[in-house]
Amino acid sequence: MAKKPNIRDLSLPELEAQMLEWGEKKFRARQIHQWLWQKGAGSFAEMSNLGKGLRDQLSAAFDIAKAQVEDTQRSSDGTIKYAFRLQGGQLVEGVLIPTAKRVTACVSSQAGCSLDCKFCATGFLKLQHNLHHYEIFDQVQILRAQAEVEFGRPLSNIVYMGMGEPLLNYRNVLRSVEMITSPEGLGMSPQRITVSTSGIAKMIRRLADDGVKFEFALSLHAADDATRSRIMPINDSNDLATLREALTYFYEKTRTRVTYEYCIFKDVNDSLAHARDLAAFSRLIPSKVNVIEYNAVPEAGFENTTRARMDAFIQYLEKEGVIVNVRRSRGKDVDGGCGQLALKNWEPDMLKAPAS
Ligand code: SAH
Ligand code: SF4
Repeated sequence: MAKKPNIRDLSLPELEAQMLEWGEKKFRARQIHQWLWQKGAGSFAEMSNLGKGLRDQLSAAFDIAKAQVEDTQRSSDGTIKYAFRLQGGQLVEGVLIPTAKRVTACVSSQAGCSLDCKFCATGFLKLQHNLHHYEIFDQVQILRAQAEVEFGRPLSNIVYMGMGEPLLNYRNVLRSVEMITSPEGLGMSPQRITVSTSGIAKMIRRLADDGVKFEFALSLHAADDATRSRIMPINDSNDLATLREALTYFYEKTRTRVTYEYCIFKDVNDSLAHARDLAAFSRLIPSKVNVIEYNAVPEAGFENTTRARMDAFIQYLEKEGVIVNVRRSRGKDVDGGCGQLALKNWEPDMLKAPAS
């Protein structure tokens, strides 16, 4: 049987046209839209303010294909990791992270990743699927409901820091943000959303051209080309000079402060010389730096640095006037920390061949 189109690929005007074509009243489209994007309906049968005839007609013509929670794992620190099964069969992971002030949802934009950052669990997985915008949206909608159930608090922040490189699935990421922020969707503020990239210069310029309003984070992890290329092969084609130009362009167009993510690895990027390069890089445009504790991925062969070296690194940055936040690892005991998503429960053929 031919696959039915997903109704969530239709915009509100397109839904309206469909209703008129079927001889229905135009306002039915808005009702369906609300069920899909505000109430999170997973089936047409739930759409109780539509007549049975229309519900049946919708089911015959369209799918909703909502992502399903397949598994959850609870960390001792309150973090909960969710495995989502997509309609195509792929698994992706999302994480709900409660802190005193926030409840943050971390969502995936791709199943696997085409990039090969040496320290990241997702980087070991082949890219299997670029998530549709509604598959990203589903993770947010489910995690938003879970925040209320689990913590009795509303979801406050969303970070695109799960599996995958958001800027290599650009259109779907932007469209998901649109529905998360739209009053006809979840109505959340774009300032509560952070999209993180490993640094695709061309797409950073595109973000600037599109005038995006969300927060923007660049995974820097080293501010000299030799070190960065060693841990992030994407740096060979998007080196620091290229990124500097793209960032300057981004700032000129958006006037948005950028956040640099700096995961700190023992004996790789944790010296004061590295801190000096980072401080210099961070002066390019208004920015802040998140120094992140490494969540060790055993297969990767990197270690977290010592507390003493991390403290010295941070002190140096602060002395240089850099705005620094320290991100302690969360959800480690369920492999739910940043960059730990995905190495378990995967079939061997989903793994990339080891680098020769
Ligand atoms: N692909 C995007 C977003 C997903 S990764 C990116 O690279 O930015 C989200 C963040 O987790 C990135 O800053 C990434 O460098 C970081 N990260 C990856 N593996 C990690 C690990 N094992 N421990 C801590 N952070 C990690
Ligand atoms: Fe992909 Fe980001 Fe992991 Fe790099 S850090 S492999 S870009 S998910």
